[in-house]
Amino acid sequence: MAWDFSTEPEFQEQLDWMREFVREEIWPIETIFEELGQEGFERAIAPLKEQVKERGLWAAHLPPDLGGQGFGQVKLGLMHEILGSSVFAPSVFGNQAPDSGNSEILAMAGTEDQKEQYLHPLLAGDLRSAFSMTEPETAGSDPTLLQTRAELRDGEWVINGHKWFSSNASVADFLIVMAVTDPDAHKYQRASMLIVPADTPGVTIVRDIATMEHPYEHFGRIGGHSEILYEDVRVPESALLGPRGAGFLIAQQRLGPGRIHHCMRWLGVSRRAFDMLCERSLSRYAFGTPLAEKQTIQNWIADSAAQMQAARLMTLHAAWKMDTEGASAARLEIGLIKFYGAQVLHDVVDRALQAHGALGYSTDLPLEQMYRFARAARLYDGPDEVHRQSVARQILRGYEAPEDGVPSQHVPTRREAARARFADLLEAVTSND
Ligand SMILES: Cc1cc2nc3c(=O)[nH]c(=O)nc-3n(C[C@H](O)[C@H](O)[C@H](O)COP(=O)(O)OP(=O)(O)OC[C@H]3O[C@@H](n4cnc5c(N)ncnc54)[C@H](O)[C@@H]3O)c2cc1C
Repeated sequence: MAWDFSTEPEFQEQLDWMREFVREEIWPIETIFEELGQEGFERAIAPLKEQVKERGLWAAHLPPDLGGQGFGQVKLGLMHEILGSSVFAPSVFGNQAPDSGNSEILAMAGTEDQKEQYLHPLLAGDLRSAFSMTEPETAGSDPTLLQTRAELRDGEWVINGHKWFSSNASVADFLIVMAVTDPDAHKYQRASMLIVPADTPGVTIVRDIATMEHPYEHFGRIGGHSEILYEDVRVPESALLGPRGAGFLIAQQRLGPGRIHHCMRWLGVSRRAFDMLCERSLSRYAFGTPLAEKQTIQNWIADSAAQMQAARLMTLHAAWKMDTEGASAARLEIGLIKFYGAQVLHDVVDRALQAHGALGYSTDLPLEQMYRFARAARLYDGPDEVHRQSVARQILRGYEAPEDGVPSQHVPTRREAARARFADLLEAVTSND
């Protein structure tokens, strides 16, 4: 039996250090981020990054030969649960999205030259990247509909298309663009990935789209989601990342680990909201008792704890399966946690916000920000409905419709079969009567 839920003592020690470090060093920066601005923020986190590197925790998602720690998904999952409690923590640990996913793509599919030019500086924090796939005119849920084209002309790729929600593109040095290179191929082999330096002529970052999370447009800041026009953008043939037509395959391999990290980060957010829910329930007094003594509040605490525990175990199980059997073997588990984890995040934050009343709705607490963040989790990296559909399809492959259309558990049919099988016994029992 190899079911083991324990953590190695050395790694537990690292986790304990991370928890303390994130709370003591990173949480305070959240409250002055606006005052610091992007540059001040970079200066504030520079010494923290050094501490992370000294602890051997920098870019832990990549193998050691690429300057990472080669942790594997279970350890990464446990780490992301802690980092998730602050939106800034992943930047301090060198594994912030989308750079972490993009570095995985480069590590997996990049040529030596591409690794030299993009991956190493990305890992060192000298470059920033964006992943540019979703288009306003086509359904992001079904990327086989992509319209952005890349045509090979005279040894150069010429890219034309319109993208949006390319996170961090307005601060990125290069973009990984998903474009159709082979329109006549099988629908899953039409698209390829291309590396496009952000200052290439023809690339126009139109705007950073104001969103529910950042309702006021603010161009050129980390965490923005950019709309981009690609108009006759020319990059060399060597800009192709991975084999031609392998765009979807590589994207799938990137999204698997990314979803595990998202889910664990959401648990970090949920935990922080949950702690606030519990704390408030003890201090707020109404109708003769603290909130903690109202059954509704107790239900919220118990339901939240149960949901978080379920999501955590499901996520770590998906991580374990990925570590032991590979990304494609864990597809079902990853689909399950993506929509379930997003729901848990939403529910826990919503309850904590409600328990704080007007204070929860105000910007005096981080709950309203968490709530807006939680809403997006049900959309990015695939909306809930698409993951549910994919999970249901995979599950249904293990079933067959009964040939005669009668449910296999139909009691009268089973009874008739059982009577035939036990006819002798039934007769003996009946004759004894
Ligand atoms: C915060 C955030 C960050 C993002 N970052 C990036 C990024 O860095 N790079 C990038 O390329 N993209 C990014 N995206 C885009 C994201 O990947 C897409 O929003 C997502 O894939 C959904 O595509 P869509 O918005 O076009 O919605 P659509 O595909 O139009 O879907 C809309 C809705 O239709 C319904 N639907 C779709 N398919 C089905 C189905 N099979 N069954 C039932 N209902 C269905 C769902 O309710 C779905 O929410 C980001 C999005 C957000 C919100």
